[in-house]
Amino acid sequence: MTALSSETSELAQGEPLVVLDHVDKWFGDLHVLQDINLTIKRGEVVVVIGPSGSGKSTLCRAINRLESINKGSITLDGKKLPEEGKALAQLRAEVGMVFQSFNLFAHKTILENVMLGPTKVRKHKKADAEKKARELLDRVGVGQQAAKYPAQLSGGQQQRVAIARSLAMEPKVMLFDEPTSALDPEMIKEVLDVMVDLAHQGMTMIVVTHEMGFARTAADRVIFMADGAIVEENTPEEFFTNPKSERAKDFLGKIL
Ligand code: ADP
Ligand code: MG
Repeated sequence: MTALSSETSELAQGEPLVVLDHVDKWFGDLHVLQDINLTIKRGEVVVVIGPSGSGKSTLCRAINRLESINKGSITLDGKKLPEEGKALAQLRAEVGMVFQSFNLFAHKTILENVMLGPTKVRKHKKADAEKKARELLDRVGVGQQAAKYPAQLSGGQQQRVAIARSLAMEPKVMLFDEPTSALDPEMIKEVLDVMVDLAHQGMTMIVVTHEMGFARTAADRVIFMADGAIVEENTPEEFFTNPKSERAKDFLGKIL
């Protein structure tokens, strides 16, 4: 495949890449993140699971500072996330994020969508950005669609483009917030397959999903959140077959 596998394997796998240290966040009176301590190592794939409203999206958004935090710190590759400004923009570019809604630019072609970040933010040459974008689109299986507009693609194809667009920025870590929950069932697998490939190539990933198949195939660790706190963490095998907390048992009883 493309450069990603060699790039990531050159770096030391297993070093702390994303570190949340005593992170608290409130929305008014709502204590939405409660003393979160979490270390994600380079190359690790962590699945975050938990009931609606437990703070999973807020956690993701805090990691790339789409949301500020009230206490504690978040470091990315040894650098503390700055509050604002150019340093924040630079650091944020190291974190790829894929949402439930694909958020592609409707009036740009698929190719242009993927080239935009590298040319505008990374200041890569257009020809280089195009070559890389075409490689990434091939890699996620939508190379044939490069000249089309987002609305001409299926939801599954659009989400794969969104993944390619994030990868084009060469992020150190990829965050996925329920990437398949807006998709028709027959399109879920094609997106999960791309994510599994990425995981197997050594990408560091934080994935909010209830897709157990993905967790079992790709995750090193499952984090279970409830009411803003990390209640339980374990290997996928242990977590799904032998959950320890009542909250996790109750939740799994509802989704399985
Ligand atoms: P999850 O992704 O696990 O469903 P969220 O992180 O989206 O949970 O939300 C956690 C809690 O924070 C919910 O109760 C939600 O209503 C609340 N919340 C999320 N965003 C905001 C916001 N911008 N302002 C106020 N409350 C919010
Ligand atoms: Mg959410």
